[in-house]
Amino acid sequence: MIGNSLFRFSVIFISIISIISCASSPTGRSQMILKSDASLEQEGARQFRKLRESLPLVQDPRTIDYVACVTNSIIDVVDGDYADLYWELAVVDQPDVNAYVLPGGKIVVNTGILNMATNQDQLAAVIGHEVAHVTSRHANERASRAAVTGVGVDIAAIILGGGYRNQTQGARDALSTGAVLGLLNPFSRLQETEADVIGIEYMAKAGFDPRESVELWKKMNAKNASKIPEYLSTHPSGETRIDDLIAQYPSALEYFNNAKANGLSPNCNL
Ligand SMILES: [Zn+2]
Repeated sequence: MIGNSLFRFSVIFISIISIISCASSPTGRSQMILKSDASLEQEGARQFRKLRESLPLVQDPRTIDYVACVTNSIIDVVDGDYADLYWELAVVDQPDVNAYVLPGGKIVVNTGILNMATNQDQLAAVIGHEVAHVTSRHANERASRAAVTGVGVDIAAIILGGGYRNQTQGARDALSTGAVLGLLNPFSRLQETEADVIGIEYMAKAGFDPRESVELWKKMNAKNASKIPEYLSTHPSGETRIDDLIAQYPSALEYFNNAKANGLSPNCNL
């Protein structure tokens, strides 16, 4: 009898853990989600305000409108709860080739990335990737993992997205030191690949040519020979990434053609 109730206790215990922690990402990958999305979003918004106050924001309305045009087109095709998120954008006058996103949909784009992503479709590949980090709950997943492993990362400070080697100097100065550890942790490759898969879907659904994502990464790789762009430093190696993106072409091109057939063809210009 004792053995039996112990067994039952274990089953109940395991069930409770499973209910709390199991979720699925948009690609169907099971995720450990332990944190409150609302508190992460609140903290993301707080950190975003700090960044906006501290970093040199672009003043040129044409540049801002261009990045906003691409970003809005992508966000328009996001569905579910994330369509109602209070998405915000900051375009920062910094030469580093980088973009990143904070929990709650706060997107930061450096002007440096506009020198690499030289048309709307290539910029859409970057924005789609960052938006996908949010809709895939990657921040919560990271924060949850940190909590379980007892790393002691300030979960409030976890920021998603790009490469953080030199680019973060600005962000590092802007944020409290407690935030730095979470900020500097690169995302796992698994999450990066997932953000690529979901990101190319978003860009294609929004009417951007998904093949331009590969053109962008080819350029990143070419530059890689001399100096690693920050965006690449924490992201999957170029060749793997390109192969993975090409593998998405069949579905992405179908989304793209559907978007065009439905009159979705963005015209964002610098
Ligand atoms: Zn990423």
